[in-house]
Amino acid sequence: DGSRELLLSRIQDVPDYPKPGVMFKDITPLLADGKAFSVLTDALTEICREQDAQKVVGLEARGFILGAPVAVRAGIGFVPVRKAGKLPGGTLGQAYDLEYGTAEIEIHADALQPGDRVLVIDDVLATGGTAEASVQLIRRAGGTVTGLAVLLELGFLAGRTRVERALDGAPLAAL
Ligand code: 5GP
Repeated sequence: DGSRELLLSRIQDVPDYPKPGVMFKDITPLLADGKAFSVLTDALTEICREQDAQKVVGLEARGFILGAPVAVRAGIGFVPVRKAGKLPGGTLGQAYDLEYGTAEIEIHADALQPGDRVLVIDDVLATGGTAEASVQLIRRAGGTVTGLAVLLELGFLAGRTRVERALDGAPLAAL
């Protein structure tokens, strides 16, 4: 129905960002277009309902922007997964490898109830490292990951394989 074309048309390729040789997918034009943002929110909310999710977990930072309106439309809560050191309460952390070095993400230890059904939302899946670590972290926090939904999958990387292994049968949806 043209939704996918609308969304793709609002994603801008930015060469050499954040460093030379990288083609960055900038989603800010999509966010700035009320129609496109709403179409995206509807599509993600549909996934949320299909999976009967009880919480949306958004990954810092663009996963917050995409995930929060989905939680509101679905009538469920939103839980942030943040870069280490940003959450004020007691946290659980998960380290993961980057191209150079490591990173760590955190979730509030009491953010999920045991068995809470969780849909994870982010904007872009690249290597899958962030998503894989998030799935592991959410499970350690007691959540059941019902799926991962992203706006864009950068198909030239092996991100899907890595994340599908971590998801253990739960679906990976990319628009
Ligand atoms: P990964 O861990 O899969 O390599 O990287 C995914 C994370 O980096 C996501 O949180 C995503 O927001 C960010 N990211 C990586 N590449 C891009 C890109 O081209 N565009 C955007 N918007 N985010 C990206």
